[in-house]
Amino acid sequence: LAKRERHAVRRFQADLGAAALERLELEQALRVGIDRQELRLYYQPIVQARSLELVALEALVRWQHPTLGLLPPGRFIPVAETSDLIVRLGDWVLREACRQLREWRAQWPGLCMTVNVAPRQFARPGFAASVRALLAEYALDPDALILEVTEGAVMAEDGTPHEAAMAGTGLNLALDDFGTGYSSISRLHRLPAQWLKMDRSLIQDQGEPEGGRSSRPIVRALITFAHEAGLKVVAEGVERPEQLRELQDWGCDLIQGYLIARPAPPEALDLHGLFYPAP
Ligand code: C2E
Ligand code: CA
Ligand code: CA
Ligand code: CA
Repeated sequence: LAKRERHAVRRFQADLGAAALERLELEQALRVGIDRQELRLYYQPIVQARSLELVALEALVRWQHPTLGLLPPGRFIPVAETSDLIVRLGDWVLREACRQLREWRAQWPGLCMTVNVAPRQFARPGFAASVRALLAEYALDPDALILEVTEGAVMAEDGTPHEAAMAGTGLNLALDDFGTGYSSISRLHRLPAQWLKMDRSLIQDQGEPEGGRSSRPIVRALITFAHEAGLKVVAEGVERPEQLRELQDWGCDLIQGYLIARPAPPEALDLHGLFYPAP
């Protein structure tokens, strides 16, 4: 190798080493952080499209890092997902969400909670049983909890659904991030889910003048097919009133996004205001 190439290779290896080290350090710090109770749950409302009445809250994890401040999940979930750390993190999230839901349901009995579940967590044998045990421990109706999973997480490598995705587990599923990756409309009727969450990337064109590459026809078709398959449709990332109006016109069931409310810690959530929306 020429001197310049040797230098490039060394440089590349050093970068790789630094990235690996960073990942390892982050993983160690996160383990300690979970033990020290540094994780927080923020909650974002999911409302009826027509009445804007509150139906559920999505639990979204944050890490209150002692020196780096409040970290969004994008900063640590991907690293946690490379090991069983995601299972510990996920267990904490599920328990805290159930504890909080139990508290809120004392005042709002119909309120539901959705919790994101990572593929590795969902695929573990006994996962469904552990969630049912948790629901029983907090005396929660199983219908009060909805697990948000991605399409890939529901199926095993051999194309069969994972244990927790099978009928009879008593768990409610929402298919998250639909419209990213290889989501397939033709398989909708075989999905074991109750809800279909359309990804924000699909919703962005909503309410805009029809353009050549608009995803609006897809959204419209998705709502129709999902309804035929018996699924409720949630639109994620609704930010503008025009988007809301169009989704209402097309029969979308549920709405989530900054237009309604941003994710907030429990003490900052005005549930009463959400149950009785201002006209
Ligand atoms: P997600 O499940 O697709 O969650 C929705 C994300 O979109 C959230 O980001 C939310 O804050 C953001 N969002 C909601 N409405 C709007 C909007 O109107 N406009 C825009 N621009 N964004 C909006 P967040 O909280 O940063 O979460 C990012 C991702 O991290 C989540 O995406 C989810 O995949 C993952 N995540 C969050 N909490 C957990 C958890 O407890 N466990 C696991 N495994 N993953 C989690
Ligand atoms: Ca989600
Ligand atoms: Ca999503
Ligand atoms: Ca998303």
